Amino acid sequence: MGRLSVKMLPVGMLGTNCYILMDEETGEGYVIDPGGEAGKVASAAREAGLDCLGILCTHGHMDHVGAAGKVAESLAAPVFISGADSSALAGGGRGVAARLGSLVVSRPGEFRLLAEGDTLKFSGHAIDVLATPGHTTGSLSFLCEGNLFCGDLVFQGSVGRTDLRGGSFDELLESVRRHVFTLPDDARIFPGHGPATTVGAERSSNPFLRGIRGGV
Ligand SMILES: [Zn+2]
Repeated sequence: MGRLSVKMLPVGMLGTNCYILMDEETGEGYVIDPGGEAGKVASAAREAGLDCLGILCTHGHMDHVGAAGKVAESLAAPVFISGADSSALAGGGRGVAARLGSLVVSRPGEFRLLAEGDTLKFSGHAIDVLATPGHTTGSLSFLCEGNLFCGDLVFQGSVGRTDLRGGSFDELLESVRRHVFTLPDDARIFPGHGPATTVGAERSSNPFLRGIRGGV
């Protein structure tokens, strides 16, 4: 078991943060939210020496899953998503790519479902799967040794949109209360867009989370 490394890779037109989470010694790890630019994600993974065990999708929006099919194919790894958001990946297949506006979307031929309570193990590390609805019904967050990959749940000083299909601001607040504000202040938050932050910083100054400040 080696040190964990987190590499952030902004991809696509919306500047989605794709992450490579891996054990530096064994190279085992995961790609989180390959929202676009499959070639760039796959090269970064190869360059980092990633032995990819899976591609984790925080939620089903195209700017987070748009390159899931192609990246899965190049890295020969399965794609994981929640059941509630899985329709975003349905109907894919080898080499199938669709055009959504100016976005090229590649869906994987198959995918596996994740739910709260699932644990993904690699090289002595564990990723806890948390259900964090609010931005979408099936939004998941992934917690690995004090590093929280939360998709579009919380951003630095902001939160994810809740006006899209399946969104609910009340649910988003409840997800933060249950799964983010229960973490220590120094836990790191790696959001789906924008810079990384900490639980302490968002607890003390995120204006959207004022109502739940102080935690549980
Ligand atoms: Zn989203």
